[in-house]
Amino acid sequence: MQQGHMIPMVDIARILAHRNGTVTIITTPVNATRFKPAIDRAIQAKLKIHVIELQLALAEVGLPEGCENFDMIPSVDLFVNMYASMDKLEKPSEEVLRRLTPVPNLMTRCIISDNQFPWTTDIAHRFGIPRLVFHGPGCFTYLCLHIVMNTNVLNEISSDSDYFVLPGIPDRIELTKAQAGGWGKIREIEGMEDFFERMSMAEEGADGVVVNSFEELEPNYVKRLAEAKGKKVWCIGPVSLHNRSFLDMAERGKKAGINGHDLLKWLDTKDPRSVIFVCLGSMSSLSNEQVLELGLGLELSSIPFIWCIRSTTDETDIWLSGYEERVKDRGLIVRGWAPQVLILSHEAVGGFVSHCGWNSTLEGLSAGVPMVTYPQFADQFLNERLVVDVLKTGVSIGMEVPVAIGEKDKFGALVKKENIKTAVESVMNDEGEGKARRERAREFGEMAKKAMAEGGSSYVNTTLMMQDVIEELAKNTKPIQDVF
Ligand code: UDP
Repeated sequence: MQQGHMIPMVDIARILAHRNGTVTIITTPVNATRFKPAIDRAIQAKLKIHVIELQLALAEVGLPEGCENFDMIPSVDLFVNMYASMDKLEKPSEEVLRRLTPVPNLMTRCIISDNQFPWTTDIAHRFGIPRLVFHGPGCFTYLCLHIVMNTNVLNEISSDSDYFVLPGIPDRIELTKAQAGGWGKIREIEGMEDFFERMSMAEEGADGVVVNSFEELEPNYVKRLAEAKGKKVWCIGPVSLHNRSFLDMAERGKKAGINGHDLLKWLDTKDPRSVIFVCLGSMSSLSNEQVLELGLGLELSSIPFIWCIRSTTDETDIWLSGYEERVKDRGLIVRGWAPQVLILSHEAVGGFVSHCGWNSTLEGLSAGVPMVTYPQFADQFLNERLVVDVLKTGVSIGMEVPVAIGEKDKFGALVKKENIKTAVESVMNDEGEGKARRERAREFGEMAKKAMAEGGSSYVNTTLMMQDVIEELAKNTKPIQDVF
């Protein structure tokens, strides 16, 4: 029920269908609309993929009609209601599984589900089929979260803002308690601690972990994650690279706030690697003051840019009209949703200011561009550490305190325009450390493409994952007639 989870899962569904899997996506009507164009194209290409829409019991849990995604929820206090409505999908989902006719002579079935649907492990057990869990972040962050949640490390630290070294990982990573457990108030809401507990139990009962990453990116962490979880980990990404056609890149996620062809025309006029792309994901929002400061920082830097602003207010709209006129020779503003993968794939883009959601982080790395890291909450501070400290392809904008996730009007400390200018210029710099950083980023981009190409590590892992499901099932599954 979040773009950052749904978008990669739809990519995974299409990858599996492309590799001869028969895929059923279970979702809700509003969410289905968001990825309908991509699925329609896959069906036209004769892939065996289809979507089943189930209704969320929204009224029953006190959510407004149509509020089917976390990016539509008016306040963090209602997150728990959303999880309650997601829980109510268990029965209808089970019915769907029962109804689906098994392919003759092929009993293989497998559920791949997001970690936020813990009951899918129970259904899988009832049907005697595997459940693979998809969690969102890469292996580094996943392992750090595992340590944070399963050891006493945070309890031993009293201050929210003192930096400490995270134990149990191969690299020296320093962060604060608040950054390590960036879910903030969500965990304190009644019922949420319970939900987190259920997610983790269900994950323990799952048969394997599907990760949107590639082995060459974080080799030390893939193995350690598998050891920590005690199960197989399949890195099958970056899944965004499965989108190769103009339409698949231009229509990914939501309807974009700009025509893709116009955008490419604009980028075609710019020098290679000269433009910085600014986009802070599908969930974060900035204060009016921060929007202005970010815009002024970009203006000060004199570097060409594309800036995606998720939502504006009357105040920012008025300011933006004058601003757009001032920067029109080198700045393009996209309102709402940017076709991020399309933008990043253009050779004129040479840097990315990102909030470090895992998908965006990986998409930036896949495009071979260095990043200005501007984390907000959740796992984003950990992803920042990977990019800045481990991969060394990023420059931090200097966020220290996480923003209160989903809490209206509670914004973090202001990042000043001078800091924004410095970070942007540093990441776009083509000399000294800037050059080395760009080169490292370019190399990761090459590795990512190789991983996804036929014979590459992620391609092979996808094969192994599918084979494993078939072989394990042959050993363990109940005869199909016992289930249906
Ligand atoms: N995205 C996009 N356009 C936007 C905002 C986001 O295409 O304007 C996509 C982005 O490419 C990524 C996903 O939405 O695939 C966001 O996921 P991520 O994990 O980066 O961050 P989240 O939105 O979950 O915080």
